[in-house]
Amino acid sequence: MSLAHYINGAWETGSGANVITVFDPSLGQPIAQFTSASSPQVDAAIAAARQALPAWRSTTPQQRAAVLRQFAEQLQQRRESLIELQMQNNGKPRQEAAVDIEDAIGTFRYYAQLVEDQAPQQDREVTLAAPDYHSRTRFEAVGVVGLIVPWNFPLVTSAWKLAPALAAGCTVVLKPSEITPMIEQTYGQIADAIGLPAGVLNIVIGKADTGAALSNHPGLDKLSFTGSNAVGSQVMRSAAAHCRPVTLELGGKSAIVVFEDSDLVQATDWIIAGICWNAGQMCSATSRLLVHASIADALTTRLVAALEKLRVGNPFAGEVDMGPLTTAAQRAKVLEYFAIAESEGLQCQAGGHTLQEDGWFVAPTLYTDVPATSRLWTEEIFGPVLCSQRFSSEEQAIALANDSRFGLVATVISQDLDRAERVANALEVGHVWINSVQAVFVETSWGGTKGSGIGRELGPWALAAYQSIKHVTRPRV
Ligand code: NAD
Repeated sequence: MSLAHYINGAWETGSGANVITVFDPSLGQPIAQFTSASSPQVDAAIAAARQALPAWRSTTPQQRAAVLRQFAEQLQQRRESLIELQMQNNGKPRQEAAVDIEDAIGTFRYYAQLVEDQAPQQDREVTLAAPDYHSRTRFEAVGVVGLIVPWNFPLVTSAWKLAPALAAGCTVVLKPSEITPMIEQTYGQIADAIGLPAGVLNIVIGKADTGAALSNHPGLDKLSFTGSNAVGSQVMRSAAAHCRPVTLELGGKSAIVVFEDSDLVQATDWIIAGICWNAGQMCSATSRLLVHASIADALTTRLVAALEKLRVGNPFAGEVDMGPLTTAAQRAKVLEYFAIAESEGLQCQAGGHTLQEDGWFVAPTLYTDVPATSRLWTEEIFGPVLCSQRFSSEEQAIALANDSRFGLVATVISQDLDRAERVANALEVGHVWINSVQAVFVETSWGGTKGSGIGRELGPWALAAYQSIKHVTRPRV
């Protein structure tokens, strides 16, 4: 069992109750084992973060920006090994793993610049209607923050929290998913390499019990969580028990709306990217296809042809368009939905079965004319499973898209930009793409409405999420 946990600037072997086995999903074979962090190790990580806080929050924005740029540099130096680790542990195609590393590097660079740019506003005087008073604004670190992340974009989800938290002057205890922990261990190795003061970043690896030890801990000032709604709700209850802030990035069941004037060749590409990127294991998967009735059959024919042409396989065995599902449990879940579809008599146009490979592969799948009552239409599947429905008017498309307990993202496809912008405004989600793949820019926000979460990541909003605003007010002398 190797050293797994990064606590107070040192690597420790776990003393927790679980053995964490890390797998290569393309082969279904183990690649590493760790012992989870125990509750006392979580205590020690939080104590180290608390001890490191006064000095770290007192550094200047310029000093913290320099550290963030070192993180970006070090990620860049580890680019190839991080690409291969994500291919091996997540089953990501090489080109997708490369996008993730670029995203993480860009995120550290962006928050370095943002916190530097904000520096002149520190202690800036507020214009008051009362001329005999003086007040100034301060941006202060929230304090010790717990960060809990899932396995589907491990490098990226962690960067989206870690970079703004460190930029704000917070100290951190990060709990990666037990499924992909080696990817986030890299952040500890980087902290070591750049001489980050002990305790500023701590990493504890473990399953639900380690996560709960962190999220229930009285020593945190804030918790930021990305993951499932079931766990998010538990994490929110813990935050409520301590009356402290929480950010939640949860699940989705997002719509992609295709109007009758769409270019079907492009629409097909965007639809497939929205459901097959990361083998559909995306909170933002546009898994509900709403298509104008007049083009529905033509689009289905194109989609089936394109889905059947996708190269699905082990990313190390050659160029692939889609890898395996990342866990055996995820594959079992997708198979459960295939069984439900069969029992409901849904029309399966493509896929609906596993693929004859060693690992955890499923075929990219399309069900058409899925009723709104089907679990396949309402629940997050987290696999390459697309369900479609037809609409006949703009109003109906909007109503169908908004008829979900989730509200993360949506895509609108139409050559009529006025209509596309109008529909985008009417959709109850956090981000809408028009005639595009899901291009995510660090300057724009990420997060959802309704059951998809609370708060926003990326952009200035994520920096604000780790800052506390203070005003100092006095009579003028
Ligand atoms: P999960 O909720 O099972 O696990 C997420 C993290 O929480 C893991 O680190 C896990 O170990 C930890 N955890 C589990 N039980 C816990 C508990 N009781 N207390 C504290 N922590 C606990 O989710 P997952 O299967 O890893 O990820 C998939 C989910 O994440 C999907 O629902 C997906 O939509 C969501 N997700 C959302 C976003 C977003 O930005 N909105 C991004 C990526 C993934």
